[in-house]
Amino acid sequence: MIRWTHRELHTKAPFGIARWTHSRYPRSFVTFEQGGVVGRGEAAPNAYYGETGETARVVGPLLEGALSDPWDWQGLQANLTARMPQGHPSVKCALEMAALEWCAASVNLPVWRLLGLSALPIPESSYTVSLAELPDMRRQARDAWAGGHTILKVKLGTTQDQQIVEALREEVPQAKLRVDANAAWSRPQARRMLGVLEALGVELLEQPLAADDLEGHAALRALARLPIVADESLHHVSDVPRLAAAFDGINLKTAKLGGPLQALAALRTARALGLGIMVGCMIESSLGIAGAAQLSGLADWADLDGALLLADDPFEGLAWQAGQLARPVGIGWGVNPQ
Ligand SMILES: [Mg+2]
Repeated sequence: MIRWTHRELHTKAPFGIARWTHSRYPRSFVTFEQGGVVGRGEAAPNAYYGETGETARVVGPLLEGALSDPWDWQGLQANLTARMPQGHPSVKCALEMAALEWCAASVNLPVWRLLGLSALPIPESSYTVSLAELPDMRRQARDAWAGGHTILKVKLGTTQDQQIVEALREEVPQAKLRVDANAAWSRPQARRMLGVLEALGVELLEQPLAADDLEGHAALRALARLPIVADESLHHVSDVPRLAAAFDGINLKTAKLGGPLQALAALRTARALGLGIMVGCMIESSLGIAGAAQLSGLADWADLDGALLLADDPFEGLAWQAGQLARPVGIGWGVNPQ
């Protein structure tokens, strides 16, 4: 039996990136039950990848029939693709998550054990400084540092970007800074900012240019000393090989790739091509974050703060110490309703 519930999650403060600022996030949760065992998943739809809360509500029931035998993960993928060849990755993710947790729960294991992954520690997660007025961004950085977060991911994509990074460097001089331009820069702006970021000791740069500008990214990378990581340029496992010529790493998010197994396939492909790995997330509950956390021991960089930004996370069970997430030990995803 499959059941969907839908609810709106809220961030503690408005969350801004180059494209938008929001406080409300519609999310869909699926529960798959068979033989008294339950598996759960979350859909975190994102308009950039063609989804909304409304499409997730409608598409969930249309795709749920793809999940009949929870042990047949390849069959699930094939069924999902047959029903909807393109799009709706967050709904596909929710169903893949439900299958995985059902299997893990039926043999009393955490999902990462089911997948045969080693108990590697998760790298410290970055904490996001969202795009806002400069004094607000300074305050966010100060509060995060005071709360024990030593790695900050700064959202950029304005005409004030140089001032913002300089101000934050001054505000939290010892923090490790990463920058995410969310595809907002032009090529000349990116070249100029690259010098600024390198002079300020920024650790990495995520998606400076438009998603389809692989040539621009490749040219920028040739000039760069810091790693350049793809996020918006990566929609599907099959994108990974061509990204290897333009980027140093990729940001894997289960909600955009269609689930933890799709993210794992992208991760292995990326490793074979010599790419660095970030495991990232959308604004999603601890259930969605738990899905990504299972793979995060394989990552070079973690960006899993989505649930930490929520005022009303419906799940609990992830063990955070500031930015350090402990390897999940509970059965399945290791989280429970609050
Ligand atoms: Mg990003």
